[in-house]
This record gives sequence, C-alpha cells and structure tokens, in this order.
Amino acid sequence: MEEHIKIQNVSKYFGENKAIDNINITINKGEFFTLLGPSGCGKTTLLRTLAGFYQQDEGDVHFGDTLINDVPAHKRNIGMVFQNYAIFPHLTVGENIAYGLKARKVNKEEIKVRSKEALDMVELTHLQDRQPSQLSGGQQQRVALARAIVIHPGLLLMDEPLSNLDAKLRVKMREDIKQLQKSLNITTIYVTHDQEEALAVSDRIAVMKDGKVQQVGRPHEIYLSPSNKFVANFIGSTNFMEGTLSGVDGDNNATVTVEGVKFATKLLNRVEGKVLYSVRPEQVKLKPVEETGDTLLEGEVVDATFLGESVVYKIKFHSGNVISSHEHSIRYNMLRNTGDKVKVDLNPEEAVIFNESGE
Ligand code: ATP
Repeated sequence: MEEHIKIQNVSKYFGENKAIDNINITINKGEFFTLLGPSGCGKTTLLRTLAGFYQQDEGDVHFGDTLINDVPAHKRNIGMVFQNYAIFPHLTVGENIAYGLKARKVNKEEIKVRSKEALDMVELTHLQDRQPSQLSGGQQQRVALARAIVIHPGLLLMDEPLSNLDAKLRVKMREDIKQLQKSLNITTIYVTHDQEEALAVSDRIAVMKDGKVQQVGRPHEIYLSPSNKFVANFIGSTNFMEGTLSGVDGDNNATVTVEGVKFATKLLNRVEGKVLYSVRPEQVKLKPVEETGDTLLEGEVVDATFLGESVVYKIKFHSGNVISSHEHSIRYNMLRNTGDKVKVDLNPEEAVIFNESGE
C-alpha cells in the first residue's frame, strides 16, 4: 500500500495546554481514516494542523514525499467539509460549487463540466439554482461535500460533517459519503466522536484521548482487541470485572478467577496477579437457571430493557456486582423479567484481559 500522509511526532500547544501530544500516524493512499475520541481530545486540532490552519509546534507532516510543514493552507490541495456546512448563503448551489474552481482560474467550460459532475455525485443537480436557505440540512451538507470534491483535492478532510443532521439522515449520509469516497478513491481523514459512525465508514480508526493516540486499527480490531480500558469502554460498551490470574505458563495460558469462578484463558501479553476482565454485553450469554456447568454463574435479572431488535438485561450476582447482557436473537419464550434467576456464561474466549490499571 502506498503511503500518502505521514504525521511524525506532531505536537501542538495552546499556551500551556498540549492539545495534541506526539502524534505518529501514517495514512495510505485512498484510505478512509477516522480520528475518533471524546470532546477535547484533539481531533479538530490535528485536522486543522493537517489543513495548514494551525502550525504544529513540533514534528513533521509529509504529503507523499513532500514535507508540508511550511506550505500554506491554500497550497495544500485539500478539500474540507465542516460540521456547520460553511457554504456561502448569498450564492446559489451551483455557484457555491463552482466557487473553488473560479478561484483557481479554471476555464468556464471546465467549470461547467466539473460542477455538473460534482452535483451529480451528490444528487443535487435538480437543485443547482436554489439558495442555501431553501435547502434542508442534509442538502446543505451535500453542497459542502460537492464543493470540497469539485476541486479534485489530493486529500479530503471532514470535521464532524454529520453531527447537525437527524439520526436517520446521518446513517444515510454516512453510507453515501463512504461510497463516494471509495468511488473517487480520495484519501480521507474524518473526525467524529460517534463510535458507531467511525466503525461504519472507516478503513482504519485512530482512537484519541487527551491529545494522544490510544490505538490505531481497523474497526473490528479496535472493537474486538481494544488496547486498553479506555478504548474498550469508548468503542461500544463493556463490562469490567476484577479478576485474578494464576498458573501463567510459558505460552501465556493461564487461569483467571472472576466472581469466584475459574476460567482457562489465553493471554495476549504477559500479565499477572490482579487483572481487569472485560466482556462486551453481547458476548455475555444467558442460560436457563437449571443449566449446570463449572463456568456458569448464577444471577438475578434486575432490569430488562426491550429495544425491539434486542434486549438489554442487567444481571446482579451474589457478590452485588451487576453486568449487562445484550441479546439479539429474541423469542417470546426466551424473554426474561425482572426478578428472574438466570445462569450467566461470561464467554471467556471473547473476553479481553487487561492489567489492573487497564492497559
Ligand atoms: P470536539 O469534539 O469538542 O471538537 P476535539 O477532540 O476536536 O473536541 P480540539 O478542539 O482539538 O478537541 O481541542 C483539543 C484541546 O485544545 C482542548 O483542550 C481545547 O480546549 C484546546 N483548544 C482547541 N482549540 C483551541 C484554541 N484555539 N485556543 C486554545 N485552546 C484550544
């Protein structure tokens, strides 16, 4: 895979505050790469640094073989899409889209062809003479997208482009953006705090916290093998339980004891003693209370939330600890009510074990 964007040891301060802290990321040509993290983790700062709106205090950024540290924003050949659309209110849809080409002194004929092409791509051809005020939020965001791609940018940057749209439209737009990105094969860096959106659109994701990258990986890698407690909890939800490890052998086979029950387990990294056992709600299987097995735990349903396609149960163990179980295959005879006794299979093959501090 051809490397396209190389971010090396990049840091940016605002006064004393280190907004991004020694970031190292390499993004491949044509990749859909997402910066994901909670508010204030530095996603926007990193994106703006790549755009050239901010100058980093430390580190280098390469686009291809070119060091672009000192290249001004307007010479970086970047298309940008923002949360608030940032389209010109006094220009029509068509004029908004043509604007970047005019500014680049592209000839009239080519402006026509490329504008039409961009309008077609975002399915707005029929609205080209409208004013932005006469468009819905989703349509305005399509204008912003068309305006970003019409210049044929080498890199597309998107900062929370869908967060002003309602839930259904967000899902539709993210599918459209993903498809468009793939058909144009534009290297894209996308910022969101929405983990589901990140999982849905990305080739790879960098999870950030406090200005630092916590993990970079493909969506399923981040979800199934989170590198620490923060990532496990931020992507999806998870149950954490204290456990102890014993009998760790040379091949990292061990026994973990959780809620008084012993499970055989295979460790990815060598840890010993007290550990944090992390299992996702959908991996926790509920069994009839009559079922017996050395690794089944008895508990009581203390809450059941029916969500249509699934049910979320809260199960309390004798210890007082409560865990969530998320069941997707629902049948009438399997529905459980508050107060029911159940057996719980913690599904150790799919659990992740962290050391005590969650690393
Ligand atoms: P959000 O999702 O809320 O936009 P973010 O992850 O994009 O958050 P940034 O906007 O990059 O986070 O902010 C990172 C840190 O830098 C925060 O602590 C923020 O307060 C600070 N910060 C961002 N921009 C500035 C600025 N222009 N001046 C001073 N501090 C700033």
